[in-house]
Amino acid sequence: MSIMEKKGKVYLVGSGPGDPELLTIKARRLIDSADVVIYDQLPGEAIIASLPQGAEKIDAGKYAGNHRLSQTEINQLIIKKAKEGNMVVRLKGGDPYIFGRGGEEAEELVNAGIEFETVPGITSAIAVPAYAGIPLTHRNYASMVLFMTGHEDPTKEESALDWKYLAGFEGTIVILMGVKMLEKNVKQLLKYGKNPSTPVAIIERGTRPDQRLTTGNLENIVNISRERGVKAPAITVVGNVVEINKILGCIDHC
Ligand code: SAH
Repeated sequence: MSIMEKKGKVYLVGSGPGDPELLTIKARRLIDSADVVIYDQLPGEAIIASLPQGAEKIDAGKYAGNHRLSQTEINQLIIKKAKEGNMVVRLKGGDPYIFGRGGEEAEELVNAGIEFETVPGITSAIAVPAYAGIPLTHRNYASMVLFMTGHEDPTKEESALDWKYLAGFEGTIVILMGVKMLEKNVKQLLKYGKNPSTPVAIIERGTRPDQRLTTGNLENIVNISRERGVKAPAITVVGNVVEINKILGCIDHC
């Protein structure tokens, strides 16, 4: 078959939160048979180091504050590689459809008429707290969970986040991309009446060898995280379930 006849296909693959053993079997199989892998840094060093030798590997490097390719450029690149007849794996941290703009990439593929499939991954939103000994629900502590971005698109005219609702939410709040705006977000929760003694955990680089847990409450977490120099990528958990860590401890270390 000539290259012109070969039909490309794109797999939007979730890599999980970083521990290579949390890659799904399907993700591993697709990665190992890809012609092209387009990734950024979020899948983490161990998974990036395991990308196949034979594949063309492209680091789209769109890490917070250090943009290499714009989202539009990434979309164009994925489409170009597929049109050339390649089997393309677009590897995304965690799950492709939990933040990280996987939905937008899929829409672009539909618009371009390119065949694609999504392979869910274990989202950091659940796996990272789990490795830090924090179950997101628990019969005695929380019957609901909410995932939110801590870093809204700054070009948005009106916030899509309803802080009154969030402050009154009687379950666990999991914040992704929450490091940069931690102070602002904590202030909003307190302003709308969330109890200052509500426990908070911040887990940096969860499920990786250098994962680190920082705990406090809404009143002191901003200072504590500043003192400890907390950096992205990190998951912030707000709610009483954080206390369970004292009983369970961390998998690996904290
Ligand atoms: N699709 C991803 C999320 C992309 S948004 C997922 O499902 O996990 C990027 C944010 O994910 C980061 O800012 C951070 O909040 C979170 N994140 C991803 N991997 C992480 C990890 N190993 N440890 C802590 N946070 C992580």
